Amino acid sequence: MAGIAHAAVGLAAKPLVPEVNVGWLILGTFVLDILWVAFWCVGLETSPANPAAHPPWWDHSLLMAVVWSVLFGLLAYWLGRRSRHRTSIGVVFGLMVFSHWVLDWITHPMTALSLSDKGIPVAFGNSPLVGLGLYRSLTVVWVTEIGGLLAGLAVYIVWRVRSKHPQPAAEPV
Ligand SMILES: [Zn+2]
Repeated sequence: MAGIAHAAVGLAAKPLVPEVNVGWLILGTFVLDILWVAFWCVGLETSPANPAAHPPWWDHSLLMAVVWSVLFGLLAYWLGRRSRHRTSIGVVFGLMVFSHWVLDWITHPMTALSLSDKGIPVAFGNSPLVGLGLYRSLTVVWVTEIGGLLAGLAVYIVWRVRSKHPQPAAEPV
């Protein structure tokens, strides 16, 4: 869970699928965290404070992140079936879901926030825990979270301004 930086990916992806509400794209980047909460409620996932905690297999393993990204991409494709751009909608939404895993992989183990964090799992059982460990320092956490969000917002705002004031078409010569 890298935090608000996930939302930046959703904001930055808006120009790729202009007809999709940016709220859906941002929601897509949090699907794995939402699934974690749902699985925790039904006892499939364990909270890190639990002494018998296991890595978040069902939602944050690489294996399951691929599965969820494909499933949610297909769902978005189906929901967008009336659009000519349904393929882009499905692909981009699936990528939003998977972007969560990529950002988590870059930031975990985030020992600046949790000393017991050893990375995110590749699959189930004794599969390796992986991650580049960007969030080992609190300063890096703040710079990345706020900087990332501002960068995503910048892409979104520039796109909005440009789409509201389209450049005049070039005169034919
Ligand atoms: Zn997460």
